[in-house]
Amino acid sequence: MTEAELLARHRAVLPDWLALYYDEPIEIVRAGGRHVTDASGRTYLDFFAGILTNAIGYGVAEISDAVRAQVDTGVLHTSTLYLIRGQVELAERIAELSGIPDAKVFFTNSGTEANETALMLATQYRRSNQVLALRNSYHGRAFGTVAITGNRGWAASSLSPVRVSHVHGGYRYRSPFRHLSDADYVAACVADLRDVLATTTAGDVAAMIVEPIQGVGGFAMPPDGLFGAFEEVLDEHGILLISDEVQTGWGRTGEHFWGISAHGVVPDVMTFAKGLGNGMAIGGVVARSEVMDCLTANSISTFGGNPVATAAARATLDYLLEHDLQGNAAKLGDRLVGGLRDIAADHDVVGDVRGKGLMIGVELVRPGTREPGPGEPSPAAAGVVLEETKARGLLVGKGGLHGNVIRLAPPMTLTAEEADEALDVLAAAVGAAQEEVA
Ligand code: PLP
Repeated sequence: MTEAELLARHRAVLPDWLALYYDEPIEIVRAGGRHVTDASGRTYLDFFAGILTNAIGYGVAEISDAVRAQVDTGVLHTSTLYLIRGQVELAERIAELSGIPDAKVFFTNSGTEANETALMLATQYRRSNQVLALRNSYHGRAFGTVAITGNRGWAASSLSPVRVSHVHGGYRYRSPFRHLSDADYVAACVADLRDVLATTTAGDVAAMIVEPIQGVGGFAMPPDGLFGAFEEVLDEHGILLISDEVQTGWGRTGEHFWGISAHGVVPDVMTFAKGLGNGMAIGGVVARSEVMDCLTANSISTFGGNPVATAAARATLDYLLEHDLQGNAAKLGDRLVGGLRDIAADHDVVGDVRGKGLMIGVELVRPGTREPGPGEPSPAAAGVVLEETKARGLLVGKGGLHGNVIRLAPPMTLTAEEADEALDVLAAAVGAAQEEVA
């Protein structure tokens, strides 16, 4: 069966709204290191790490061995109603790594579920269904999470079970405050937060949820310190701070283990998923025990924290920490940002290069302007870069409010040679995009 035939069957039986990349989507059948191979035998350097899921790359023996050892016990899963040693050990480690005092952990199977749980905890704890979120945010595809998502692309997909107000801050490139210095930008966003609280809420807000770097929103980020400044306001009202670390956790941003740490603040609640299992489905919530234990009902996640996923997660954490992949992300992130800024200097189709560690966004614009360019919701330049990189053996991500941001997030085991190889491909692809839209 060809990939084209598989695509036809996919389209017939899977939902129309399920996103697929490329004019001719690929089927990945093998992988190793930072490379994946498709069904037709072509190999690509994966600069999106799945979707930031393969934090340490593919075919890592330590992860396969840990999973295999668990599988060999015959227990893939029985029930989370019984004790699971690996789950307890993983929770202990994440509680400690979180820096949240007196923390407890609840495991889920995805980021969406993690954020749904965080919303449930915060709204129960505060007895209010009012939530603050950032414009341009993405927190998941289920009932509550899609409702708090501040991105037009998802706005129509659900009626809201929560009251949500969106504030400025996360997406500086298109913010009305973008011309201001860092300090003045932070002050303007804090003033906006105060105004939103005073004018659009009933005054009994449960929580504010933030992505330290907005993932789906195009790897957009505020100046360091913004969320610390927000927290001072939140504290005045007893509002909880939830940091959605689904993309920014595990050292990917280079300078810190958690993205929120750049803001000098320890949140009340953090949510995580994606890279933790290096491809195995696992997510979760870590929160102050007072918040975590506010639920009075007995509850369960049938598969959350199952033995196989937690084995993969423990091995992934070991690997990340033993190999200082956070340090590698910082070093190679700087190398990539430097190279991309050089490319941008020669191509005014690039409006912005931003990011931290191995989470780098390249925002494409109508040359010489800040306009996202023609072809919404997937502007032409981004489409050209996506196809041209693929044709040259490099997989990248795409995102942003206008679909005009190229997202680079390779496995954190990336080498300098691979970074340079990707820069060469990106220079050629951006050149092609510049010609296409000039
Ligand atoms: N939160 C953030 C910041 C995300 O980027 C995503 C997914 O992209 C989610 C939550 C939802 O995670 P999942 O797709 O695992 O449900």
